[in-house]
Amino acid sequence: MAFYDNSAFQVIGIVYAIISIFIGAWLWRTGRFGKNVQFLFLFLTSLLGFLIFSPMLPVQFQDALVRGATGTSPVTGAGAESGPAVPAVFFGVIFMVVLAFIFGRHFCGYLCPIGALQELVYHIPLKKIVIRQKQTLTIIRLIVFLGIIAAAFLFSTGLIQLFGIKSFFSLAITATSLVFVTVLVISLFIYRPFCRIICPTGLLFQVAAAPARLKIYRTDACIECGKCERVCPTDESKRSDLKSECYLCHRCIDACPVEGKALRYGIPPDRPLNANEKETE
Ligand code: SF4
Ligand code: SF4
Repeated sequence: MAFYDNSAFQVIGIVYAIISIFIGAWLWRTGRFGKNVQFLFLFLTSLLGFLIFSPMLPVQFQDALVRGATGTSPVTGAGAESGPAVPAVFFGVIFMVVLAFIFGRHFCGYLCPIGALQELVYHIPLKKIVIRQKQTLTIIRLIVFLGIIAAAFLFSTGLIQLFGIKSFFSLAITATSLVFVTVLVISLFIYRPFCRIICPTGLLFQVAAAPARLKIYRTDACIECGKCERVCPTDESKRSDLKSECYLCHRCIDACPVEGKALRYGIPPDRPLNANEKETE
């Protein structure tokens, strides 16, 4: 509870996320984002979640919604002054949305403790169930998003609270923390169920990432083998996909047989690039 109320810790997490987005984008852009960097970010972010409960944007966003509507926090149960200031939370979310619009979903990919833990769990080698119905998932998460807004303003309730994220990251064994444990168990088989169905900020990032300036795209070195499409857990690796649900997981690049030349992270050109051709930006 104390960590959540401590704005200094919250600020540390947000600053970590912002700086890491720029570093991550640079590492991707220069082809230096390998497995070691990937796991370093995932472990560090998960650790910050347990140590300082930050950067925990989905929870803060929902908490700010309820506090803005009622003056009472669903997370702390305290008054409107507890937790980060409501305008600061909304400013932070908008800032992250802008960064998603420029760089894609680095925050979701590597800097949100909720997403990072689900990503780590999905790495455990078990048979996976790949859900390719992107539109259906988007419709469901839109309904959930509207439900979260309605619950905050009509019933003064935070629906995200039901997932026990705060209890889980506080290592408290409660009925709700077991809900998040269940989410993690599902994450063994299904890629990021919380991110793709429940998360309210994830929906905002999804919308922002569709027209993102920098994203993964194919060059004309692509031999159309389809391996990237088969390994993509969100069905975002087709040539025409907008990458709005691309979590920059790197699986497509790892699977590509053309030595990393057929897939690049950057500003997609109007026409396919030759593998040895330089982009003009
Ligand atoms: S979708 Fe939500 S829970 Fe998932 S990584 Fe993004 S902000 Fe975190
Ligand atoms: S496999 Fe590639 S396109 Fe699919 S989510 Fe991962 S990085 Fe994005």
